[in-house]
Amino acid sequence: MISVAEAIQIVRQQTRPLPSERVKLHDALNRVLAEDIVADSDLPPFDRSQMDGYAVRAEETSDAPVRLRIVGESAAGKGWHHEVNQGEAVRIMTGAPVPAGADSVQQVELAHELKDGAVVELLESVEVGKSIVKRGAEIKAGEIVLQSGVAINAAMMAVLAAFGYAEVVVGQRPRVGVLATGSELVSVDEKPGQDQIRDSNNYSIAAYAQLAGAVVQRLPLARDETSVLSQLISEAAKSCDAIVTSGGVSMGVYDVTKAALKELDAEIFFERVALRPGKPTVFARLPNGTFVFGLPGNPVSVAVTFNLFARTALLAMQGVTDPALKHETAVLARSVKGNVDRESYLPAQLTTNDDGELIAFPLKWGGSSDFVAFAITTALIIVPAGTKTLEANSLVRVVRLP
Ligand code: AMP
Ligand code: MG
Repeated sequence: MISVAEAIQIVRQQTRPLPSERVKLHDALNRVLAEDIVADSDLPPFDRSQMDGYAVRAEETSDAPVRLRIVGESAAGKGWHHEVNQGEAVRIMTGAPVPAGADSVQQVELAHELKDGAVVELLESVEVGKSIVKRGAEIKAGEIVLQSGVAINAAMMAVLAAFGYAEVVVGQRPRVGVLATGSELVSVDEKPGQDQIRDSNNYSIAAYAQLAGAVVQRLPLARDETSVLSQLISEAAKSCDAIVTSGGVSMGVYDVTKAALKELDAEIFFERVALRPGKPTVFARLPNGTFVFGLPGNPVSVAVTFNLFARTALLAMQGVTDPALKHETAVLARSVKGNVDRESYLPAQLTTNDDGELIAFPLKWGGSSDFVAFAITTALIIVPAGTKTLEANSLVRVVRLP
């Protein structure tokens, strides 16, 4: 049995980024950058006014109030491209270029125009540089503004647009086959008969896979029969970078997932992890290169093991620099029990208290089959193997769920 950290390490070692592809900017949200993004121009591209007001020579305002002759107007998109000389001012708008000769902008609230706009009276003096953002003060042309390996968020879309990336190079999205095993399973649109239940794992797995950026392919429900399962897996492998199965990995007579993988000559990297819930999780690769995550059948185990292992692989395949769930530290609101030889990942919710501390509330749950209680889970509390009890108010490691 290997530790969770070792299992994640193996997943990271075995997975490589898929080839990159070029997409239009408006299709780039949530995709993973496969190139560094470089500024093609200074930002701002010219000395820019931060205010509506008057561009002036600061030294001429020291004895304010002072009257200056208005010689022009600089608006955003239509600058005034002459020199401001002694005794002169230029009416200027937010975002407009500051004309040569001027070294400050006095805001409109501290000035008023006279003589039909021919003259402005500045009521207060203004210091050099006031309300001007110098060319290149924010970003210099040639600077890297976004690093390869990050997922593109909404704010980054603005950065890409501002520097002219009409197309971006991103990691390909992995194609993921989702395959529920279990002779007891019927699909969501059927009424379960005697001894049957509806398949729910395929829906959570597909959803988590989508959140991880994968393109999901839903496969037919598989009976607990080795040949049926191996047939489905080998067919799906032709068009999938990874297949995520659920069920059939425990020690029962009908747990046929590993038998099917062996029949297909898969290389099995691990099949038991010191993890609760989720011990019998399997990670393997088929001869054609398709990865298989054989998750346990219990829905909570599915959520935990998917996010620890399969999610890490899917992000790594898109080129994410840091694909595993990040550990954070929280204060435990209520005591929790651990396990002798397995690391526990317990359902929890996170909040902050008035002191700004992150608080982890363990949720009441009826074990790894209790997917209803799990539905309000936002994070998992990590209890190290061999820890009997973690007391209330102690510091604990947590991971947030997507
Ligand atoms: P297994 O790992 O196949 O022994 O399954 C463990 C438990 O999870 C059993 O109670 C199964 O009925 C249940 N289970 C397995 N697959 C699914 C599924 N796709 N949806 C909901 N429950 C499942
Ligand atoms: Mg089963």
